[in-house]
Amino acid sequence: ATPTALMVGTGRGAQLGILIRGPEALEQTRRASVVVLDKTGTVTTGQMRLLDVVPAAGEDAERVRALAAAVESGSEHPVARAVVGDLEVPAADGFRNHEGLGVEAEVDGVRVLVGRPSLLEEQGLAVPAEVADAVEHAEASGRTAVVAGWEGEARGVLVVADEVKPTSADAVARLRELGLRPVLLTGDHERAARAVAAEVGIDPADVVAGVLPRGKVEHVRRLQEQGEVVAMVGDGVNDAAALAQADLGIALGTGTDVAMAAADLTLVRGDLRVAADAVRLSRRTLGTIR
Ligand code: ADP
Ligand code: MG
Repeated sequence: ATPTALMVGTGRGAQLGILIRGPEALEQTRRASVVVLDKTGTVTTGQMRLLDVVPAAGEDAERVRALAAAVESGSEHPVARAVVGDLEVPAADGFRNHEGLGVEAEVDGVRVLVGRPSLLEEQGLAVPAEVADAVEHAEASGRTAVVAGWEGEARGVLVVADEVKPTSADAVARLRELGLRPVLLTGDHERAARAVAAEVGIDPADVVAGVLPRGKVEHVRRLQEQGEVVAMVGDGVNDAAALAQADLGIALGTGTDVAMAAADLTLVRGDLRVAADAVRLSRRTLGTIR
């Protein structure tokens, strides 16, 4: 394409709400064969709500919530925001983030861990049967279960969920029409991921769940090794490395600065349909469509 065509493409992109880092980005957009979509905050709103707190036997739901919220107040994760809500939280010290797994900190002299059930198990906390059951029950209905624990035991389950963006199903359909295969990639568990995939029209075979941030990069690389040209759309800190690895990294303007810094394109309004507009624009600019 001529420099003039690229400049026109960039200007038209800005009108559509697409920030384009460099002219090469348009070329990659045109070639994309697979579009990998992060779930939380990309396909869903990322505005998780706390639906329920299930205490372990002998524990109090309010105490579980308060301690969990104290720890989560150090995190920006959608799960953390749901757990904190508008609660006045006790002070926490020594905050530590286990990226894509959970968080921990000291509250009232007690080391509190909050995160995926697997994180608590790895850290050697015992998980009582009623806690395991509450996790199972929440996940079976497509929700996300976060476990809080201290002093060697899981003490309760916080059940959170968010909603699919009203534009996501349409966006997936448009991307598919343009010949891109949509893949859902998430750190959340399989059943939550499948429920979202079904709602937006992604094939269950193209759902990759339970991955760590490192796993997101590895999955993008695997697709590239299979000969795919990979576009990846994400919003989180945990997506940044995968956005950089992708042939075309697309960040949401509603997401984190880290994701935008790693991406080739930014969709200013966070509307996934604009990813399809970007593909169409690049093909037109570079002369595939006339
Ligand atoms: P996604 O890929 O959908 O954006 P993440 O990789 O950020 O999800 O998170 C994956 C899972 O890790 C969450 O569903 C949650 O179970 C757990 N997790 C991550 N951060 C936190 C946190 N701050 N508090 C509790 N759980 C967390
Ligand atoms: Mg996300």
